[in-house]
Amino acid sequence: MKFATKAIHAGQEPDPTTGAIMTPIYQTSTYVQSAPGKHKGYEYSRTHNPTRKALEQNLAALEDGKHGLCFSSGMAAEDCIIKLLSPGDEVISTNDLYGGSYRLFTKIFANYGIKFHFIPMANASDVAKLVNKNTKLIWVETPTNPMLNIIDIKAVAEVAKKNNVLLGVDNTFASPYLQNPLNLGADIVVHSVTKYLGGHSDVVMGAIVCNDDKLAERLAFIQNSCGGIPSPHDCFLVLRGTKTLHIRMDRHCENGIKVAEYLKTHPKVNKIYWPGFPTHPNHDVAKKQMRGFGGMMSFTLKEDKLEAAHKVLSKFKIFSLAESLGGVESLCGHPASMTHASIPKEEREKTGVVDSLIRLSVGIEDADDLIADLKQALE
Ligand SMILES: *Cc1c(COP(=O)(O)O)cnc(C)c1O
Repeated sequence: MKFATKAIHAGQEPDPTTGAIMTPIYQTSTYVQSAPGKHKGYEYSRTHNPTRKALEQNLAALEDGKHGLCFSSGMAAEDCIIKLLSPGDEVISTNDLYGGSYRLFTKIFANYGIKFHFIPMANASDVAKLVNKNTKLIWVETPTNPMLNIIDIKAVAEVAKKNNVLLGVDNTFASPYLQNPLNLGADIVVHSVTKYLGGHSDVVMGAIVCNDDKLAERLAFIQNSCGGIPSPHDCFLVLRGTKTLHIRMDRHCENGIKVAEYLKTHPKVNKIYWPGFPTHPNHDVAKKQMRGFGGMMSFTLKEDKLEAAHKVLSKFKIFSLAESLGGVESLCGHPASMTHASIPKEEREKTGVVDSLIRLSVGIEDADDLIADLKQALE
């Protein structure tokens, strides 16, 4: 089955009791047993719920994976993955990382004796140098936030395989429509479903997809033991979201190209970070491992000042100033004073997060209106 068909049908059969074409919201905590231990596969909704199961199967299909698990947030999904590890284990992670992941690793799990290394991964050989006998997990995010750095998943997967280390990939920015890490050799894919998969800025959710049966069993055990599961109602909303993922992503990509090309011509814009430009670092890798370049980009102003960026951001009429991304509506953000405000100026500027850096999540509105909005705000 091809992507668009899976998006609409995978995991979903008409309801056996009524024929309802949409998977019902099974808003129930428990299930009646006909005799002790005799049930229909469902005992308690932390462990299994039919609405969640439909979504888990749907997301697994979209990532070309065997097993899917859904969580109450992207962070809860990541929490589950790190709980595969034990004190003394080491993780090698992308350095330009989602702030919440960095916080989870350094402020929570470092206290439990797990050691994290943060390195640029533009060259997979740099990852290989750090692997030792304690390394249990390599953590890749690509494209990264907010600099849109591209990491070669296949090359890192070869390092992971050679050393018998798990490779986890945060695929939130690309979505399964543009990139499938499992097919490139990753062991685990994680999503903030909140973003493109949900797609409508009305749900916070996370998901894991993997192929290995034993690994899936361990992850499901942690999911059930720790309990960070989503509600059946939220699962229903995301099932509605994934039905249009392919057409939304096509439009995000189309609008992304138009907005990036427009910014390139603007006299007040300095640098643009968007993997679709041939000059973008690792553009060739992006072209190889992604089916499109998506709607995420960042740019800087020639006048590299906080006030200059704030002025532009306050003038937008269609782009809304907000954290998050991947919804149908266009958003803009200012990493230096929002997501990366807690990082000292010298530190953040090392990775490119300068004062005038503006991040865009290009939505699926009319591209002409988005460009007109950018034009008036930059003027
Ligand atoms: C938002 C995000 C997360 C965290 O997901 P939540 O659903 O907000 O918990 C993780 N990784 C990336 C890349 C994200 O953008």
